[in-house]
Amino acid sequence: MNRVRLLVLNAALGALDYKLPEDTKVESGSVVIAPLGPRTVTGIVWDEGRLPGAEVDASKLRAIREVLPVPPLAEPLRRLIEWTADYYCAHLASVARMVLSSGGALGGPTTMTEYRLSGGTPERMTPQRAAAIEALDGEQATIRELAGTAGVSEGVLRGLVNQGVIEPVTVAIDRPYPPADPDFHQPALSSDQMDVAKTLVKAVEARAFEPFLLDGVTGSGKTETYFEPIAEAVRMGRQVLVLLPEIALTENFLHRFEQRFGTPPVLWHSSLKSTERRRAWRAISEGTAQVIVGARSALFLPYAKLGLIVVDEAHEISFKQDDGVRYNARDVSVMRARFEEIPVVLASATPALESLHMANTGTYTKLELPSRFGGAELPDIKLVDLTMEKPARGRWLSKPLIEGLEARLEAGEQSLLFLNRRGYAPLTLCRNCGHRFQCPNCSAWLVEHRLSARLACHHCGLETQPPETCPACGEADCLVACGPGVERIADEVAELFPEARVAVATSDTLGSPERAAEFIAHAEAKTIDVIVGTQLVTKGFHFPELTLVGVVDADLGLEGGDLRAAERTYQQVAQVAGRAGRGAKPGEVLIQTRHPEAPVIAALANGDRDAFYDAETDARRDAGAPPFGRWAAIILSSEDEKEAREAAVRLGDNRPHQDDLYILGPAPAPLALLRNRYRYRFLVNARRSANLQAVLNEWVGGQDYPPGVRVGIDIDPYSFV
Ligand code: ADP
Ligand code: ZN
Repeated sequence: MNRVRLLVLNAALGALDYKLPEDTKVESGSVVIAPLGPRTVTGIVWDEGRLPGAEVDASKLRAIREVLPVPPLAEPLRRLIEWTADYYCAHLASVARMVLSSGGALGGPTTMTEYRLSGGTPERMTPQRAAAIEALDGEQATIRELAGTAGVSEGVLRGLVNQGVIEPVTVAIDRPYPPADPDFHQPALSSDQMDVAKTLVKAVEARAFEPFLLDGVTGSGKTETYFEPIAEAVRMGRQVLVLLPEIALTENFLHRFEQRFGTPPVLWHSSLKSTERRRAWRAISEGTAQVIVGARSALFLPYAKLGLIVVDEAHEISFKQDDGVRYNARDVSVMRARFEEIPVVLASATPALESLHMANTGTYTKLELPSRFGGAELPDIKLVDLTMEKPARGRWLSKPLIEGLEARLEAGEQSLLFLNRRGYAPLTLCRNCGHRFQCPNCSAWLVEHRLSARLACHHCGLETQPPETCPACGEADCLVACGPGVERIADEVAELFPEARVAVATSDTLGSPERAAEFIAHAEAKTIDVIVGTQLVTKGFHFPELTLVGVVDADLGLEGGDLRAAERTYQQVAQVAGRAGRGAKPGEVLIQTRHPEAPVIAALANGDRDAFYDAETDARRDAGAPPFGRWAAIILSSEDEKEAREAAVRLGDNRPHQDDLYILGPAPAPLALLRNRYRYRFLVNARRSANLQAVLNEWVGGQDYPPGVRVGIDIDPYSFV
């Protein structure tokens, strides 16, 4: 039979049948182009009998146009696509799209044209042209990418191409990556590290599914330790995927990787140029890329011979994708390892409660690194009770923290102040009339950013200039900042210690790998005395001279309706505390809080991780929360408030009634307006016995909605706004 069923990359279409032209050969997983109406569509030949769809009469079948020159997607990956779509109630096509995420890699020539400055000058120099030429110095990329870099239109650059100021360059895209040398530089491991490394090396050799939780305190050398199984996989000619939560962390990782393996790994993240993306995708699918380091999206790439997955900082919530397919890369990694029959390592000093539970119940193998490498001690943690040690009005640092900073400055050591709030102040109001500056598109305050002189919405990205007069009452120069953000803390430090060199470290200031690298270089060269940062600087970084960590407001994360608030607070504070005293000098941590008696704060102060996890586990068990039960969020939104509300009420009226399922809602979401869409939420809590996905598909999927209403299902949600 020459009929094939395709999974086409279009969520609305699902599965479609085609016929194979004479002498065309495909297999399951082949990537093809097929006609669709007057156009064409990309599809994947799927295993017979696994995709539902109506049988079309053979005489009506159209023929596949072309088989693309890429290796067919392997069976483990096809099963992963199915599992992910099923588990997260997503379209197969949306998941498959994440696999085929480099359009360029799927066909086309093996060379590509990029552009760069030729050294010539234009006949007529305009300020715009001059600025573009300056911005493009040393750059080489496509016209579109260069236009983005230079902040001008593609037309401006095309004009410069015509004048010979910018010249085309032919690039061979598929040139191979330099090989990693597994024996380039082997560090001497401590005996704890050696034990863990041996176990992992054995697991790589065994080529069987085994999930590990690598539970090692901050500074225990988890990276050096998991480099050993990576080296073994490379020796065996197999590929390794290392997932990192944050692009700002890759710089540090690349550096260490290069020292160990003599060459950098292959990178995968969203800001790769299209040529780099294409080169990486092809090398990954052909098996010539050995070690791939990437953000969560690297998980769905078509590895030819994966031998190991490592998820570093596995507790991080940035592994959860909050739009499109709402998957958690930590959990999907374990599933991928299962389908590929390989080991997977979840590494963390503060594992997710779910992961720890799996390890404690024997589903995952637990490996521990209980002490810091090289004899460094874990830092001494003290609480500062802000109800007793009140900072001055309009100030946020208490006396003990100020004294700690002063002592470090005198000793020439570094300090880190942690506050998980970007910008200068979370709220701005008019002193005269009390008007609060709110985002017009979202139910959220605009956040003042003094460094960029903007008011910004952290939800939709809107940015405006702060007005000179109040838009409500017309009063001039009347804006007051309420509450602190990192920039304001940095100002406070600068006022207290004018000679201190202060750096603000947030996604605004370290947004690109280059800027992150620059920051790390400064911190390592000790040209920064005080770092003021958000969660971005809580993990991964290793600055030996950093001896004081101050947590400006430990209570911040405990506010609001986040069901994992206590766990997240624990993780953030324990991680940031872990930045202190990593070198020869001991570290000290001061935690400012108004609730020293709160169990999570007390556990942090006592260094009693087990007590915290035990109490939190009990609370989760009582509430039927993960890992003992399951949650799902359903979000309905529309630009029309009434339409959103009515759709939500109707969905609520049709809710299923089952003993093992509790449905809360509908209620207006805490972010009731987001990007101009009104939002209503349900929260579903299911016992383990309930088939959550089936129920949701029938209930939520079985309902008709007005065309303006969007419905999203979020399984195991991490966002509750
Ligand atoms: P973790 O990720 O567990 O917090 P790191 O991997 O950052 O810890 O290790 C802490 C520091 O100790 C790093 O600078 C690392 O290079 C160093 N280190 C760890 N293990 C070794 C080793 N076996 N030999 C030399 N240096 C090591
Ligand atoms: Zn907004």
